[in-house]
Amino acid sequence: MGDRTVYDELGVPHVVNATGTKTRIGGSRIRPEALEAMERAANEFVKLSDLQARASQLIAEVAGSEAGYVTSGADAGLLLSGAAAIAGDDLETMAQLPDTDGVPHEIVMPRTHRTGYDHAFRAAGATIVDVGTNDRHLGTGATNVEPWEIDRAITDETAAVGYVQKPYTEPPLEVVAEIAHDHDVPVIVDAAAELPPAENLTRFVEEGADLVVFSGGKAIRGPQTTGVVAGRRDLVRSIALQNLDMHAAHDVWRLPEELVDPDEIDGVPRQGIGRSLKVGKEELAGIIVALESFLEEDYDAIREEWRRDAEHIVEAIDPIQGVDATLDGSDVSVASEIVVRVDPNVAARSATELVGALRSEIPRVFVGADRLDDDVVTINPMCLEDGDREYVVDRIESYLTQR
Ligand SMILES: *Cc1c(COP(=O)(O)O)cnc(C)c1O
Repeated sequence: MGDRTVYDELGVPHVVNATGTKTRIGGSRIRPEALEAMERAANEFVKLSDLQARASQLIAEVAGSEAGYVTSGADAGLLLSGAAAIAGDDLETMAQLPDTDGVPHEIVMPRTHRTGYDHAFRAAGATIVDVGTNDRHLGTGATNVEPWEIDRAITDETAAVGYVQKPYTEPPLEVVAEIAHDHDVPVIVDAAAELPPAENLTRFVEEGADLVVFSGGKAIRGPQTTGVVAGRRDLVRSIALQNLDMHAAHDVWRLPEELVDPDEIDGVPRQGIGRSLKVGKEELAGIIVALESFLEEDYDAIREEWRRDAEHIVEAIDPIQGVDATLDGSDVSVASEIVVRVDPNVAARSATELVGALRSEIPRVFVGADRLDDDVVTINPMCLEDGDREYVVDRIESYLTQR
């Protein structure tokens, strides 16, 4: 904790992360072996498409998909998936995106699956058509979206169906995939934060996803600017053609056959919409190694450790005046979270004031701030190292007891 970090040396306050794998504050700690691979990768040259082909093989193997691809984050994976669904193998459309004049470009999504991340689809040129309601929250038992609503929204203008995998999303992916496939339209699944468990790598492909996107910088603990896309070979081919550098002399232009068989396309594409989402050799080497390590990890043991850490934090925080700390039993987060309810009439600060104060000090302390309206802050133990836990508890106690 007291150590000077590289950020401190750069004159930038470092963050004690008590809120889990949030990209905004650096995601996760990269695995040491991935970092070592990146360092070694930085000192040699390699054809990026060869490295993508190697990654594709690994992803296909671990996800049970036909192919895979590494993108510069899950969000970039969504953009490229949207671009692939719209353009397919059509080189002219690839060259035209994000202009979608004359090309089917609607992506149908249940309304409650809309998130800020679907801007990525629109950046590829898609128009999002959302269907359904928010009726689940009325508590009448009504659903948010009925399967027929998705079915009816798919027209000749539809390029894909978008689906965001969360424990609360409905209808089930199998149902949505069946509807989409009846219309011959692919389903793109945003499962960015749905690892672990590692079984989720295969789950969504099994349930019918044509492309599924995971973040490489969250629990996989690869480089921050990586995402993993698994899915259909033809769609991955389109992603590769729209992402890899295409400035090459025609007669010597070759991509690895695992990614693109030259017979399957009409010629050399122009630089595609994904060219600005370059993935470097260092990131590629890093994510391959990180993904292999992630699969070897004993997640149950790690989760048990997080739970024990969380229990210790509850024990330390609950006695503070005006605080009620409990373990969150829900499964929205991969680790047990601590729910800290702050009574603003008893504690020296409200939950909102506490979050603001913690974020303003040096080092910055980040706790979960999604439930401030309920006077609640949350603590996630995933990214706290030994020493950090005591520090966070101490900082919270000092703000809540001293006026
Ligand atoms: C984190 C997240 C993303 C973005 O992932 P990056 O790898 O940071 O691009 C997209 N969608 C969801 C649901 C996420 O949780």
